[in-house]
Amino acid sequence: MIIAVPRERGPRERRVSLVPETVARLTKLNHQVLVEEGAGIESGFSDQHYRDAGAEIVKPDAQWMKPADIVVTVQNTDFGPSSPYAYLRPGTIIIGMLGPLSSPPETFELMLQNKLTAFSMDAIPRISRAQSMDVLSSMSTVAGYRAALIGAEQLPRFFPLLMTAAGTITPAHVLVLGAGVAGLQAIATTHRLGAVVQAFDTRPVVREQVESLGASFLTLEIQTQQTQDGYAQALAEDLHQQEIKLLSKPVAEADVVITTALIPGKPAPLLVTKEMVANMRPGSVIVDLAAETGGNCELSRPGERTVTDNGVIIEAPLNITSQLAPHASQLYSRNVFNFLTHLFSMGLGQDGKELDFSDEIVARTMILRDGQILHDVLAKRMT
Ligand code: NAD
Repeated sequence: MIIAVPRERGPRERRVSLVPETVARLTKLNHQVLVEEGAGIESGFSDQHYRDAGAEIVKPDAQWMKPADIVVTVQNTDFGPSSPYAYLRPGTIIIGMLGPLSSPPETFELMLQNKLTAFSMDAIPRISRAQSMDVLSSMSTVAGYRAALIGAEQLPRFFPLLMTAAGTITPAHVLVLGAGVAGLQAIATTHRLGAVVQAFDTRPVVREQVESLGASFLTLEIQTQQTQDGYAQALAEDLHQQEIKLLSKPVAEADVVITTALIPGKPAPLLVTKEMVANMRPGSVIVDLAAETGGNCELSRPGERTVTDNGVIIEAPLNITSQLAPHASQLYSRNVFNFLTHLFSMGLGQDGKELDFSDEIVARTMILRDGQILHDVLAKRMT
């Protein structure tokens, strides 16, 4: 099949959807890969790296993607009427983190008009056999690691305990709110840097994982059920208010607070109010990983660094995974390769065979089929 790799044009986007390592694996399987000139530069991969891997580098005129059977993207962007996507043939497959729950509805309009088929990598089910395709876990791993480093860099103190000739320096106290994949990676990284780490999550099942990483789990008597996919359900309002109240003391005592709490398809829950920030010590740091969906801290300004009147530093990074673009791209690309080979094994591109739509991974990720919307939430958002 012919697979196209466009240069990403989304805000702050530095990643590329397929890295040369994956391109080489695809060309060995007799696929043809077209890469837009300069697509990998910001991830550290030159056009020559792609040529060496067997790709053809293409200058981006309006019709460069027209021969493609499959277009692999990172983000759902650049689908405007004057983009090369406008020239794709009906039935062309788009694979990317298309965000059926969150991307603006207009980003899907051209795909519908052109009768495209779309698979959203962020809809991969959280089941064992799909783990190697789980881009959310890959990107959360990058985000959690990076958040820990931002915290360490912004804190004007040491992280580890130091015993020096001038006396002892006590270790930094880090509080991680939300212990999903990103939170666990933030715990592991801050712990490795020598901080004393505490964490809280509304899903009690993560206590063991938190403790196995050397952190202590805050017992707040606030719990929620998790969905079949392992996601948290939103707390009822009274419980949510109680959680905020109970978090006030640990937040005030922390040197660094890393917040990662998310509810799929909903705004991020507020966990750190402006009153709580006012009670933190000068020089304390908040790293709000939920900035993309509104933030867990009331004073976060998405994409910006804020220093409050009482000297608290709030970092609310957007597209944080792009800050580690080479590795984020490598992980994403490997996830996409595993997904593609799964689709091929399910019949895609095999002469005389239809794709097996009953397969759970196919069914959950295929959000459009020849311009028909198959995803319930997206269908509602498009009306
Ligand atoms: P996520 O990014 O959706 O959410 C981050 C965390 O925020 C979650 O742990 C959630 O419980 C927590 N949270 C939500 N509201 C909160 C609140 N009010 N206060 C405190 N914490 C709150 O989660 P994720 O990282 O995508 O992980 C979701 C689950 O999926 C996890 O259990 C993870 O282990 C599981 N998972 C399974 C697989 C697999 O089996 N293949 C792969 C990856 C992840």
